[in-house]
Amino acid sequence: MRGVGQYGIRRVLCVFPRYTSSFGTFEYAYPLTAGVQAFMPPQGLLVIAAYLPADWKVRFIDENIRAATDEDFAWAEAVFVSGMHIQRQQMNDICRRAHAFDLPVAIGGPSVSACPDYYPSFDYLHVGELGDATDELIARLARDPSRPQQQVVLTTADRLDMDKFPIPAYELADISHYFLGSIQYSSGCPYQCEFCDIPGLYGRNPRLKTPEQITRELDKLLECGISGSVYFVDDNFIGNRKAALELLPHLIEWQKKTGYVLRFSCEATLNIAKRPEILEKMREAFFATIFCGIETPDPDALKAIHKDHNMMVPIMDAIKTLNDFGMEVVSGIILGLDTDKPETGKHLLDFIDQSQIPLLTINLLQALPKTPLWDRLKRENRLIEDEDRDSNVDFRLPYDHVVTTWRNCMGSAYEPEKLLARFEYQISKTYPNRIQPRTRQQISWRYIKLGLTMLRNIFWKVGVRGDYKRTFWKFALRRLMRGEIEYLISSIMVAHHLIMFARSASRGKTNASYYSLKLQQASVPAE
Ligand code: SF4
Repeated sequence: MRGVGQYGIRRVLCVFPRYTSSFGTFEYAYPLTAGVQAFMPPQGLLVIAAYLPADWKVRFIDENIRAATDEDFAWAEAVFVSGMHIQRQQMNDICRRAHAFDLPVAIGGPSVSACPDYYPSFDYLHVGELGDATDELIARLARDPSRPQQQVVLTTADRLDMDKFPIPAYELADISHYFLGSIQYSSGCPYQCEFCDIPGLYGRNPRLKTPEQITRELDKLLECGISGSVYFVDDNFIGNRKAALELLPHLIEWQKKTGYVLRFSCEATLNIAKRPEILEKMREAFFATIFCGIETPDPDALKAIHKDHNMMVPIMDAIKTLNDFGMEVVSGIILGLDTDKPETGKHLLDFIDQSQIPLLTINLLQALPKTPLWDRLKRENRLIEDEDRDSNVDFRLPYDHVVTTWRNCMGSAYEPEKLLARFEYQISKTYPNRIQPRTRQQISWRYIKLGLTMLRNIFWKVGVRGDYKRTFWKFALRRLMRGEIEYLISSIMVAHHLIMFARSASRGKTNASYYSLKLQQASVPAE
């Protein structure tokens, strides 16, 4: 947060756009919860909100929870927007609404940083991370809050060290209405997978906060009402293994001090399986889920996309190792790679059966700017800019075949019987390997009431009104008989979203690539 009195006083409206439906938004689970309305608090915009001068007034609105109103725009002197490619249409819409009030609109975040050309109507483009561009934006708005004559592009040359980042302004967000909490320890990744824009955008030498910053942020998240799980949004939690080892004892101590009120999840490369010393500490800190970009079980494909590090340990062995440390694996999968063959879909379904991974985010390959894949396909004249397609890649296999394979894989992998059987496996083989802290939260009346509300919703909406009742009750009765109420709730929350999302996907109602430019209506209506 900048100094008081230096910059006058401004009123800034920070608006986070709605998501279109995807694996990771979990919107089909919200009606089963006790009031969840959005996925995760957006780190970037909340950090910017905290970085603004201390005496500036800031309002934060997540349009996944409620739409910014005329009153909000009338109150503001400037509007800040941030988001990913998938939110492009919604970001442009916020800009249009703000301009109706003649407000200057600034856009930052990953999408504009990779593709400034996508946003011609914004007044200020903030390209890159928090740093000198942010200071310049603040200084310009302090001097003059009217709209500039023409678009101003501010590019960060000098990034702010992460150990100087302010604690995100969680107090401005309605934290208890989020499915998960979010937190960030590092940025960047040392690898260079061909399709990934992280090294190009955030560098190969991960930058870090301090462990003390993280425990302070966790304290603040708790104060603001978070419960359940917190996701480390780091691009690769073990991008700097030494730093991960330094952080973990602090997390363990924090968990002991607060009574294990939260469980953690993160993203990391699969070669974490070679590091039992890290996994043991993650277990102790109560990491319950780990997202690994497995991408494909085909070794030739992994080599071709420069993801050889996934083969440092045989993939099935690596998954088993993570399960043995109590962590359920979530896997990213890509279809449409150059090495794909007509039988790739079948191999993927075999892999899902063998690995017993419940949640796999299966996406079509999309070439993102600032990636080696983009450069190669451009050279090969294989980039197709067509907003009616699910991918901008000219696949080696026929386009219709690739999209049909994706739809069939979605339909088959998320049949209720198959999906709940995979959860059954996790409940018997993975979850018992977790530490089993009896938390203060678990025995509080608030927690019990929360659990009862979710159970009531699940029984009514899935067990009575749902259309996979028989499969549900077979799974649910086993949980009830064994006293596994928590597993029943957590599995059905995720499973119900996946079943519903996959049905809509296999009917062609959602994009086959998370990054696709194909414009779908945002499915989460703001009120
Ligand atoms: S390991 Fe993950 S974050 Fe790192 S370059 Fe590869 S895909 Fe990107």
